[in-house]
Amino acid sequence: MSQPTAADIARAIRNVPDFPKPGIQFKDITPVLADARLFAGSIDLLTENFKPGSVDAVVGIDARGFIFAAAAALKLNAGFVPVRKKGKLPYQTYEQSYDLEYGTNTIAIHTDAVKPGSRVLLIDDLLATGGTAAAAAALLERVGAKVLEINFLIELSFLPGRDQLKGYPIRSLVVY
Ligand code: AMP
Repeated sequence: MSQPTAADIARAIRNVPDFPKPGIQFKDITPVLADARLFAGSIDLLTENFKPGSVDAVVGIDARGFIFAAAAALKLNAGFVPVRKKGKLPYQTYEQSYDLEYGTNTIAIHTDAVKPGSRVLLIDDLLATGGTAAAAAALLERVGAKVLEINFLIELSFLPGRDQLKGYPIRSLVVY
């Protein structure tokens, strides 16, 4: 199997207009996941700056971020840590709220999810306004992690997501 490029992955991403509400162009990654070569290739590209053992934990954001982060964790011989929507994690948590177009959202991490000083890679499927990733990065600072990179399969560059993540190395495979 030849190694897929980011362009190959881009071709498989399905645009679904007006989901989950009118005006949103939803980027559906399920065709990437369903294709063994593209799924493995996306994990190779998301982790290409790191050798196994150089990362303590890969952190994934609820819910599609889990898929990529868990696979990346196995590849890097690192642990997997979930950042979840408020109310889902069973143990003690830190919470972080961020603004949405209408209202706010809150995400959480277990207080003992990583040891202070841990080297972590944060992954989500898509960077839009950056609120979600910035809140996740804030939670990681709170537990004392060192965020090595924040990676996305997809970036919507017409939104100011990167502005919210200043100070962190950001990588995205497919940019719209
Ligand atoms: P944001 O906080 O605005 O950067 O939004 C990022 C989060 O919302 C990610 O976890 C994405 O899964 C999801 N998301 C936002 N916009 C889209 C979109 N157009 N297509 C698919 N997922 C999206």
